[in-house]
Amino acid sequence: MKDQFFGRFGGSFIPEILYNSQQQLIDAYESAMSDAEFVGRLKSEWQHYSGRPTPLTFCNNLTQQIGGAQIYLKREDLNHSGAHKMNNVIGQGLLTQYMGKTRVIAETGAGQHGIATALISARLGLKCTIYMGATDIKRQYPNVFWMKQLGAEVIPVTTGSATLKDALDEAMRDWAANYDDTHYLIGTSCGCAPFPEMVAGFQSIIGEEVKEQSINQIGKHPDRIYACVGGGSNACGIFLPFVDSSSTELVGVEAGGRSDAPGDHAKRFNTDQARFGIAQGYATRFLQDSEGQLMPTHSISAGLDYVGVSPILADLEENGKVRMISANDDEVMTAFSQLMRNEGIIPALESAHAVAGGLREAKSMSPEQSIVINLSGRGDKDIFNVAKVMKDEPFSAFLNDFLLEAN
Ligand SMILES: *Cc1c(COP(=O)(O)O)cnc(C)c1O
Repeated sequence: MKDQFFGRFGGSFIPEILYNSQQQLIDAYESAMSDAEFVGRLKSEWQHYSGRPTPLTFCNNLTQQIGGAQIYLKREDLNHSGAHKMNNVIGQGLLTQYMGKTRVIAETGAGQHGIATALISARLGLKCTIYMGATDIKRQYPNVFWMKQLGAEVIPVTTGSATLKDALDEAMRDWAANYDDTHYLIGTSCGCAPFPEMVAGFQSIIGEEVKEQSINQIGKHPDRIYACVGGGSNACGIFLPFVDSSSTELVGVEAGGRSDAPGDHAKRFNTDQARFGIAQGYATRFLQDSEGQLMPTHSISAGLDYVGVSPILADLEENGKVRMISANDDEVMTAFSQLMRNEGIIPALESAHAVAGGLREAKSMSPEQSIVINLSGRGDKDIFNVAKVMKDEPFSAFLNDFLLEAN
């Protein structure tokens, strides 16, 4: 594998004890991707298990309403389990088998990556252990329920703040102790090498498809592509195949949250609350206080709520290849409704950030121009949050009645 740095970001800042498992993974990924049989299985699972290629959908009603650029959506919401996360877990699940390992571990905050990992483990016959903060387990119980039903073991982590970063520490410990039979399946384009490049690589199928589909449907590549940025995997996936194109501008949309105050958002760019740092095995832009302690984050969408960001995106932004903007919670809810009402598509709240950014800027573009918004996932999972924001009282009453009946 090439240099493990992306400019000054990335690298491997890991304890000695993880060195062997990391080297093994780097070698396995490199050899698997040049093995025609592995690549054939990967493509076959993407197609027959996840439903790829996903469509590129033209939004005529929204385009008319906004009155600027032609608006297209890349429909990652139509993947099996409803998000782009499936592209990556299929890749790493097959790689686990390729290395002759029989067990995967993962850490999850909101639970979406935990479900995706439990799904692929069931399909490939792998033993599956998910680390999750005890606080997150309470907040995201429906996802935990599905992980357990799928046969995964969910281990509550009670150390520290009992959230994602504590679960991450536990997963690292498990990997170090059990690397003989265990693969650590990281869910986004972050962490030590080779994870940023490997996850971005598995997700790049998104942008590869857009390249071909846009030529067929628009007659040229899009003028701009928008993607929401949590850890950065769906953004890397749709951006990377276009990185050297001078005719397509790449725009990442972060969670602007409630306000710009510390702890109220998850912006790692365009704020002096985030700067270069090394944590969790790699170097990137982290939200941190003056002493370098990682800061709490907020977003209306659990999946964008992360203190670090892909080192690949940190580098692309620094080199002017990706422009970063943000959308706040209110704009996100407006865009969410706009897409639902006009096109009959319910986006994930994460993806609604990309929609908000795209709609805001499409207005000032011309009808000869076109944009593609990466719809990273579907919104069914967000029903509880959306009902709360919409203050839908019958929904609360329904939940109460449901509980009374169950007891
Ligand atoms: C997990 C998730 C994200 C955020 O992850 P990235 O690695 O930044 O892509 C975005 N959208 C959806 C639907 C997700 O489930």
